[in-house]
Amino acid sequence: MSTDARKMVELPPTLTVRALAERIQASPIDLIKQLMANGVMANINQQIDFDTAAIIIHEMGFDAEPEKQVEEAKPEAVEAAPAWRQALEKEDQKLLTPRPPVVTILGHVDHGKTSLLDAIRSTDVASAEAGGITQRIGAYQVTHNNRLITFLDTPGHAAFTAMRARGAQVTDIVILVVAADDGVMPQTREALAHARAARVPIVVALNKVDKPNANPDKVKHQLSEVGLVPDDFGGDTLVVPVSAKKRTGVDDLLEAVVLTADNTKILANPAGKLIGSIIEAQLDKAKGPIASLLIQNGTLHLGDTLVAGQAHGKIRAMFDFHGAPIEQAGPSTPVSILGLSDLPQAGDLIEVLPSEREARTLTAERKLAAKTAAQGPHKPVSLEDVFAKFQAGEVKELKLIIKADGQGSLEPIISSLNSLGTEALKVNILYAETGNITENDVMLASASDAIVVGFSVQQDTSAQHAAETEGVSVRLYDVIYRLTEDVDKALSGMLEPEKKVVTTGRAEVRAVFNISKTGKIAGCIMREGEAKRNSKIRVIRAGKVVHEGDVASLRHEKEDVREVRQGFECGVGVRDFHELAVGDVLEFFVLQEG
Ligand code: GDP
Repeated sequence: MSTDARKMVELPPTLTVRALAERIQASPIDLIKQLMANGVMANINQQIDFDTAAIIIHEMGFDAEPEKQVEEAKPEAVEAAPAWRQALEKEDQKLLTPRPPVVTILGHVDHGKTSLLDAIRSTDVASAEAGGITQRIGAYQVTHNNRLITFLDTPGHAAFTAMRARGAQVTDIVILVVAADDGVMPQTREALAHARAARVPIVVALNKVDKPNANPDKVKHQLSEVGLVPDDFGGDTLVVPVSAKKRTGVDDLLEAVVLTADNTKILANPAGKLIGSIIEAQLDKAKGPIASLLIQNGTLHLGDTLVAGQAHGKIRAMFDFHGAPIEQAGPSTPVSILGLSDLPQAGDLIEVLPSEREARTLTAERKLAAKTAAQGPHKPVSLEDVFAKFQAGEVKELKLIIKADGQGSLEPIISSLNSLGTEALKVNILYAETGNITENDVMLASASDAIVVGFSVQQDTSAQHAAETEGVSVRLYDVIYRLTEDVDKALSGMLEPEKKVVTTGRAEVRAVFNISKTGKIAGCIMREGEAKRNSKIRVIRAGKVVHEGDVASLRHEKEDVREVRQGFECGVGVRDFHELAVGDVLEFFVLQEG
């Protein structure tokens, strides 16, 4: 075929065989045959990558080129916009003006997040002049070429995601710190998943380039592999070599932030309705609650009456991040304030009300609402209701966070899950890693309306608590087939409501007794909740479930009892399990309908 007769098609990094067939208007069968001729066995719903697709369609008379970025950004419509963005939509669009970008630094532990925040902060002349004795209010600003940039100075994604989970996405740009001597690590990938889920543009700070064993090129390749293709490799991710220690490259990094900000619409109306978010709050014995907040729209004035979550009050004093008293503050400005009645929580949204009476009424209503509905308005997706939500137009994809016990199981899980679903309702794996389910995973799920799926892993206690309070659905499996079958059924609305595991208590095994007639009995102390004679039981050893079954006997001081409460000792027999050991954790649970 002559080259001028060839047709150009734009393709995403991966797509299903069906989608590829649609793009080149060929029959999927022909495509599958062509794939087979090239040694690739694929079914119609299977994902194939760009390179494979390009080779196959080349033989069918097409040339492939990577799809433009704009196309990739499409799913944005699905994600609920953060509260401030929703508020912005109500503003008169003509009055919106650029505001300073708000930046969060994420990255793997010890890659230099804190050092970089310090290095950036030291570029601020005013704090240098003040002898560096600036107040820590959770955020600061620096100027680069006459442009202000706001930095949140709590590094790490726990705070970032906790704020998002409360609807307060304040970050406009993420700086992902990657140490040049260590490269892309598990928490780098985790941070990347958090930033992507929030649809925030990413600038990479390639830190520690001063180290003799720094290998920037190797790290750039690793970055490409996770989809952050550096600009000098032909991609569009700005990767800036820095040394937080030697304080080199910081200016270039700030320049990259400004460039990124210019490519993103970071706007506000300084004269509009006030909206902001609490960054942190603490109780001062003498001054009462001190809250740090970031203004996202409008201008805050001394004397304004505020409501922040369940707290309210008139602003008695307001300070900038240098600790200097100020009377007003506009968009992207971090301030600390005095005058609130209670301690608000990080991520609480701020509004200004006309009078203290109205503010008091609103917070009283909120307190009452919080008591009656511990969950708030946010109702997360569960595997059982994803299809119903899809039919109601509320979701277009099933977002999953996958944790598995090893790379060997992770890969088949990812590829089989990717082959499920339809173009209209597909699986979107936000993050897949090895290791137990942590609180971070649950918070990412909560912020992104995702479900956490674990394969041969445990969830730690803090993750379990977070899942309960956030209402996040966590599904645990030990057989890959069961996992994919459930997801497949969920995507077609065929999944039966699952019986929910409700943990009622946890006991620690302190001693093990051999009783000739009954077998082994664990001498325990109830650490949490209560043990019930008629409940189910799990034996957990070194974080792994080693047995799941029924309670055979429950005793307290030689008496058979129906329940034992927290703090008390008890003797527990486990039916059909004779390997109880000191240090085991016994988890008592019941199964409840959906
Ligand atoms: P974080 O856990 O990401 O906040 O990392 P830190 O900022 O605490 O840094 C971890 C360690 O790396 C500390 O010992 C820092 O002194 C060191 N470090 C940070 N940045 C650099 C750098 O640019 N060069 C070198 N050589 N060491 C650095």
